[in-house]
Amino acid sequence: MPVELVQLFIILLKFYPVEEKLQIKKRIEEEIASTLVLVEKYRELSKPIAPENAIGRVSRMDAINNKSVNESALQKAELKLNNLKVALTRIDDADFGLCVRCKNPIPIGRILLMPQAITCVNCAR
Ligand SMILES: [Zn+2]
Repeated sequence: MPVELVQLFIILLKFYPVEEKLQIKKRIEEEIASTLVLVEKYRELSKPIAPENAIGRVSRMDAINNKSVNESALQKAELKLNNLKVALTRIDDADFGLCVRCKNPIPIGRILLMPQAITCVNCAR
């Protein structure tokens, strides 16, 4: 193998070995699956509320309060789902796992914990 090619491989391997990438991919897919379940659940809970005369005034007010809590949870879950899908499409990119701000590699532990993370811990602060 030419020296340049070997060097290129070393640079690539130094980053995320294939095995780790597969691990990350699996983790992202699992996370997508569980987030989808959450999105479904919150969507169900954010459905329009029955009229007052059907469920009573107090329980309707409760329902409205819960609805807004569930709606913001839904938004968060949908955002996370989106980020995860983006992470999955980016996993084979050369710059996957690089912090978008400081360009340093994001530790594998962070990627596995938060596959949607695009910054290192320092830059996320
Ligand atoms: Zn950074």
